[in-house]
Amino acid sequence: MAYDKPLPFPDRDSIPFWEGARAGELRLQRCDGCGRWRWPPRAVCGDCRSFESTWRATRGCGRVVSWIRNHQIFMPAYRDEVPYSVVQVALEEQPDIAFFGRLVGGTEPADGLPVRAVFAPVTEEVTLVHWEPAD
Ligand SMILES: [Zn+2]
Repeated sequence: MAYDKPLPFPDRDSIPFWEGARAGELRLQRCDGCGRWRWPPRAVCGDCRSFESTWRATRGCGRVVSWIRNHQIFMPAYRDEVPYSVVQVALEEQPDIAFFGRLVGGTEPADGLPVRAVFAPVTEEVTLVHWEPAD
């Protein structure tokens, strides 16, 4: 059955992120000017204004800092999935970077829960990033 949920539209700035996800890596831009990680992807560093950056794999780990437990069926395609948790994750390398994604693995979200990225291919082109509890 075809994947019937919304998909991201990789653009010029985010294509390397989605390529990384397909390869099983959480890749982010790292500023060549000041060394800070950049998320979401963009042309210019918000800290030092450098246009230079390099895409690098992170360890893909972080901690849950906030979450929601969704019980509402906002779209019919999610009918069989509610309730599910969406977490905000502070990245280990740079905690002011916030990722949002599904928490999988059957664990309830909790403040400070250590998590790691897991990669869920949903089409030939798109692999989504979810989070699961880290050991
Ligand atoms: Zn910078």
